[in-house]
Amino acid sequence: MLIDTHCHLDFKDFEADRDKVIDRAKASGVGLILNVASSLEGSRNSIALAEKYDLIYASVGIHPHDAEKVNAAALKELEGMASHKKVVAIGEVGLDYYRALSPRDVQRKVFSEFISLAKKTNLPLILHNRDSHQDMLDILKDGFKDKKPKGVMHCFSGDERFLKKCLDMGLYISFTCNLTFKSAERLKGVAKQVPTEKLLLETDAPFLAPQAYRGKRNEPAHIVLLVEELSKIHNLSMEDIERITTRNAVELFSLKEAGPARIAYEIRDSLYLNITNRCTNECGFCVRSFSDFVKGHNLKLAKEPSTKEILNAIEKMGKYNKIVFCGFGEPTLRLDVIKEVAASLKQRSKKVRLVTNGHGNLINGRSIAEELKGLVDKVSVSLNVDTKEKYNKVCRSQFGENTFEEVKRFIRECKTAGLEVEVTCLDIPETDIERCRVIAEKELGANFRLRRHNVVG
Ligand code: SF4
Ligand SMILES: [Zn+2]
Ligand SMILES: [Zn+2]
Repeated sequence: MLIDTHCHLDFKDFEADRDKVIDRAKASGVGLILNVASSLEGSRNSIALAEKYDLIYASVGIHPHDAEKVNAAALKELEGMASHKKVVAIGEVGLDYYRALSPRDVQRKVFSEFISLAKKTNLPLILHNRDSHQDMLDILKDGFKDKKPKGVMHCFSGDERFLKKCLDMGLYISFTCNLTFKSAERLKGVAKQVPTEKLLLETDAPFLAPQAYRGKRNEPAHIVLLVEELSKIHNLSMEDIERITTRNAVELFSLKEAGPARIAYEIRDSLYLNITNRCTNECGFCVRSFSDFVKGHNLKLAKEPSTKEILNAIEKMGKYNKIVFCGFGEPTLRLDVIKEVAASLKQRSKKVRLVTNGHGNLINGRSIAEELKGLVDKVSVSLNVDTKEKYNKVCRSQFGENTFEEVKRFIRECKTAGLEVEVTCLDIPETDIERCRVIAEKELGANFRLRRHNVVG
């Protein structure tokens, strides 16, 4: 299911054929639409649409173009509307210094009032920002003080520096179909820097039709072309982008509860196995410290799955030939389970990869590389950094200060056992990437892969 988190189906552009537009959206896989208000009248109409159509949710707010029209009575009415069960956000609100249809000082004052409304109603903000980056950040900071704002920077148009500041604030980022324009090279470069966990989809219909329909009216069905573009940018399948962005939208707008934790979960062309949430490291960058999700999959296990449960979960996703032990913890804490499951996978000629922190010997109190022979084709070991000191500082292993050397020993033993070995390091400031490469390739004779620290899976 796809979610168009920002469009304006209340506009008169859709008066003649709104039902058909919604049917085409459904046929393209759009399961939910957030109709975003831009005026008081639009807020009322947005709610009316949400009442009429199951798949439509609404926001209430007034666009900065009309900031001059905002008065106490309007704010009071919006506050009343915000309690409607299908109103899930305040927006679109913010600053527009590009067209500047309302004076800047009025826009700033009104924006602060909408921040107060968002706080009062506990709803996320849908932020409109054009040529007003610094004021937007300052007013958000001022409004939320030491708390992080909940919201999305819609139709993102800033550069990488502004993006970083928005992400530091915890904001979600959404791109419209203008990302598909031939001329959008710069914007595509920015979109690549957004962790997919912070990405939302929107059409902003009737505006900004994709390249293939440029100059025409946009509509939610065209969101598929945006998904295609983002899948190329992030090197993920369209299904991955769909699942992740849907999950993000559900989270931000509290649309519905998350599903149960996954034992087997798909990313690109592989099936990943989540067999434990325990780990013998406590890495400062670990995704588990800030989310239960990886690429849209809930990985927070209520209990560790048995071998049988793992095999059943794999069975249900039979089409995958590449199986990866990975998940939300260190798989070699359950070496016997790995061996049983991998033996069964090998009988079915599957390709098996183990993603590990390399603590397998320390955990099991013996050298385990030989035991993996014939069961695992490839081992990916996270060395993360280039020295023992950095490892101790960043990874905080429960096995103490010699862990870095032990991980390297494990890598050598896997090589000796004839396994294909890949050593991964992170692009965190602490890491000397070239030094890591030398350790991986020259010292250990393994392949080297650099991982982006904010990209998981
Ligand atoms: S090794 Fe992986 S799972 Fe364990 S703490 Fe580090 S990042 Fe998290
Ligand atoms: Zn806007
Ligand atoms: Zn809009």
